[in-house]
Amino acid sequence: MNKKILLIFLILLSITLVSGCGSSADNFSGNSSTTDVNPESVEDSGSGVGNGDIDILYQISTIDALLQGVYDGILPVAALETHGDFGIGTFDGLEGEMLALDGNYYQIKTDGIAYPVSGEMTTPFATVTFFEADENFRLEEPANLTELEAFLDLKLPSENLFYAVRVDGNFSYIKARSVPRQEKPYPKLADAVSTQSVFEFENISGTLVGFRTPEYVKGVNVPGYHLHFITEDRRAGGHVLDLEMENGEASLDITSAFFMELPTSGDFYNVELGQDLQADMEKVEK
Ligand SMILES: [Zn+2]
Repeated sequence: MNKKILLIFLILLSITLVSGCGSSADNFSGNSSTTDVNPESVEDSGSGVGNGDIDILYQISTIDALLQGVYDGILPVAALETHGDFGIGTFDGLEGEMLALDGNYYQIKTDGIAYPVSGEMTTPFATVTFFEADENFRLEEPANLTELEAFLDLKLPSENLFYAVRVDGNFSYIKARSVPRQEKPYPKLADAVSTQSVFEFENISGTLVGFRTPEYVKGVNVPGYHLHFITEDRRAGGHVLDLEMENGEASLDITSAFFMELPTSGDFYNVELGQDLQADMEKVEK
């Protein structure tokens, strides 16, 4: 464990796998399937612990710290990838968008290209998990981002859980962005994104990677959906701003445990957290 990191916070939402999954699966129709790696041991244990990290969402730092300009990398990717093979985040100095998929980590820089990531590179903020689809859905109808999110929302067993979201699809349009490395003194994220590069993809196949977190995590993570995109050839992508999807396959991984580590040094100590940053969040996400 990195010495600079102190375990602060462990929330175990055990109710879900004990009582939620069995009944919720009945609410899904069509070709959904349950592929949880070791569901029986989870149910036996009565908590989300002890199932090999599979249903634990791991996060380093908080979104509000990032919004306030805490960009120094504090966790090496080599340590981050022990917590997940799937996820999103950013890198030291806010240099580019992080995307992890099928165990491969990528850094999407302002040229829109997805670069390989070395274990020594560090992150100031990231969320990862070991992705195991609990539910799969086929999407046949064209959908914009709002419609896609609404479709997925209808499939959720509950809006109060954390979900890893993977969508492999064909897209007629994707608008994505990446942010350039910032220099100290770091600007707030809402100002940093004014220097972002925006890319537009047309008629492209690829994968959306991200999470849906509950409304009550405001300040900790991004409530609702936060999605990054990578092309099918894994060569380009970015943080998703808008899209038009033709069809594809969506998978949800119910992550019933949430594990957050906080920086134990640096700007995180002094930044003023707990403010209402909703306006900043909207600037950053749209
Ligand atoms: Zn993002």
